[in-house]
Amino acid sequence: QQEWDRFTASTGASHDEYQRASKVLPLGVTSSFQHWDPYPISIASARGAWLTDVDGRKLLDLSMGFGAMLVGHLNPTVVEHVEHALREVGTLFVTPSPVSTEVAELYQERFGLDMLRFTQSGTESLMYAVRAARAYTGRKAIVKIEGGYHGGYDALQVSVKPALEDIGPAEAPIPEVPFDVEAGTVHVVPYNDLPYLERMLSEHGRDIAAVVMEPVIENLAIVLPDEGYLAGVRQACDAHGVLLILDEVKTGLTAGYAGASQRLGVKPDLITLAKSIGGGLPLAAFGGTSEVMEVVVDGRMAHFGTYNGNPLVMAAAKAVHEVCTREALQGAEDINVRALEALDAVIDEFELPAHTVSLGVKGCVTWATAPVRNYRDYKATDFAVAELSWLWGVNRQILTPPGLDEQWLVSLAHTQDDMDGLVTHYRELAQALRA
Ligand code: PLP
Repeated sequence: QQEWDRFTASTGASHDEYQRASKVLPLGVTSSFQHWDPYPISIASARGAWLTDVDGRKLLDLSMGFGAMLVGHLNPTVVEHVEHALREVGTLFVTPSPVSTEVAELYQERFGLDMLRFTQSGTESLMYAVRAARAYTGRKAIVKIEGGYHGGYDALQVSVKPALEDIGPAEAPIPEVPFDVEAGTVHVVPYNDLPYLERMLSEHGRDIAAVVMEPVIENLAIVLPDEGYLAGVRQACDAHGVLLILDEVKTGLTAGYAGASQRLGVKPDLITLAKSIGGGLPLAAFGGTSEVMEVVVDGRMAHFGTYNGNPLVMAAAKAVHEVCTREALQGAEDINVRALEALDAVIDEFELPAHTVSLGVKGCVTWATAPVRNYRDYKATDFAVAELSWLWGVNRQILTPPGLDEQWLVSLAHTQDDMDGLVTHYRELAQALRA
């Protein structure tokens, strides 16, 4: 209660903003993920790794736009490229422009893709990737991971963080079917359970177009694949002529220079990219082997979008590519590793029932002693302490992502000193919890 009182006392202007916004925007926000209790903090501006809220407080941003702000807020190179496009190039032609080919070539090389197309959002990329897989295989059903989130496309809204009472026994999770999804066309499997997936594909493989998954689940804090799991998924897909779509919307450049697939050595048929590649502008992509992407060439699938590959966003994409060198990303990862070591020491010292998990420049503290391998393990972690940790941070000028599903991000703008602030945050929280 003390922390809640402190929160409301220091966020009066955010509260007023929320009241005003709620009259015109459902829940007072422009995306339901931006809403949290009792009300979200309203941000006036941002630079580098820091936010300024409407109450005039400086907050260390460890959420960084759900990972989209990997290069830091108002990254000078991004600003320069975008400004040049705005002043000298133009913002939208709806006819081809060399800059979109140039960025596509950069991604071809960087992510090892034969062909790709640009979109505006992860949701769109996932929708088109599923469509491409359906067009290529002539099959309708897909497989997704229990609890996994892939944006707002109907088919992928099945089993997004379902309530425990709705998911059925572990050996037969119930795919709750919302909206416009035909029953039986979405199968749900637990992450890290290869025998389960193999049984599913043996039974239904003939009807299944694709398995869709994040290579590392970054919508349940961070859940890493068991040794050999992703290679097993690849093999199981191949055995049944099922495509593998790896959703790298969240992992992407935050997992390393060429994303999580390359870091972990698994080759998908299609990948989806968004967030970190755009430097804060709305850029996403889907792409893969030319054999599969041929469906767009020969008309088995059409892919449209007025704003696709527009020169403004392409300018930002080029800047992000330029700035996110192997060395720059390694530098941020090294800062993350040192912060994680210090956090592990705090966890040991205070014997906290928690552990750290990380991938590349992202990390999280998971409030459980045993490793979390899937959605059900995740639901068994201590949500109350995690929520307190968020509130504790906001009250001390550290904005970690709200809720448990996200992870912190060490952007190219964060310093070791900034991350020491996070370590101090956990040390003081641990002291308070032990007191
Ligand atoms: N896929 C994953 C793994 C995501 O985390 C998200 C968004 O958080 C999406 C897809 C949807 O992306 P967007 O919000 O750009 O539509």
